[in-house]
Amino acid sequence: MGRKFFVGGNWKCNGTNEEVKKIISTLNAGDVPSQDVVEVVVSPPFVFLPLTKGSLRPDFHVAAQNCWVKKGGAYTGEISAEMLVNLDIPWVILGHSERRLILGESNEFVGDKVAYALSRGLKVIACVGETLEQRESGSTLEVVAAQTKAIADRVSDWTNVVVAYEPVWAIGTGKVATPAQAQEVHAELRKWLHANISPEVAASTRIIYGGSVNGANCKELAAQPDVDGFLVGGASLKPEFIDIIKSAE
Ligand code: PGA
Repeated sequence: MGRKFFVGGNWKCNGTNEEVKKIISTLNAGDVPSQDVVEVVVSPPFVFLPLTKGSLRPDFHVAAQNCWVKKGGAYTGEISAEMLVNLDIPWVILGHSERRLILGESNEFVGDKVAYALSRGLKVIACVGETLEQRESGSTLEVVAAQTKAIADRVSDWTNVVVAYEPVWAIGTGKVATPAQAQEVHAELRKWLHANISPEVAASTRIIYGGSVNGANCKELAAQPDVDGFLVGGASLKPEFIDIIKSAE
């Protein structure tokens, strides 16, 4: 099996040139487990990708926070997968709930983006997760299954996909899912991959948790058998991101 622990830092729409340089120097000085133990990927806003890539330690990698759904061209304001490839950016986050909910990205649109990004050679952190209303009405599994199916319908090779389970009610709220709540959904997602794609894909695909992960709660979450890492927002801008990376051990 051997699913390598994965820690992503999603900086979202934060940072100035000076702040980004400061975050990078903190990361570069951090004492973390080796690349054999943990894969670390940080995701600055587009405009800071070259700066980050150029000055970040070589054992950490970079991701964009989004990319366009097809070949670039007359799409004002968009960034294409081709451009990321051209700049040697290996990863992209797609389907983040902030894009699904604020910008209206549908399951199908996200599925199309994931498929296109993979076809260009990018690796994808594909985000799924339910809202509070959906959880309270008992439809969590149905929602994440539908989001995952829209990707599965368009993607045949899952080697370069990491699935991020991020319950919307836990994102940026300080209200982290309990280890049991995270484990339950991660295990169900893995079961879904087993039944609908293949036992191999279910066994090898990393399913990471996101939503108010911090230095204090990461260890207990990381100990869950189906939690293969984290996608970290707010805490990824702070020195405690190093502690979260260390939870891989
Ligand atoms: P948060 O964000 O850690 O600030 O809750 C997580 C995410 O949105 O990826």
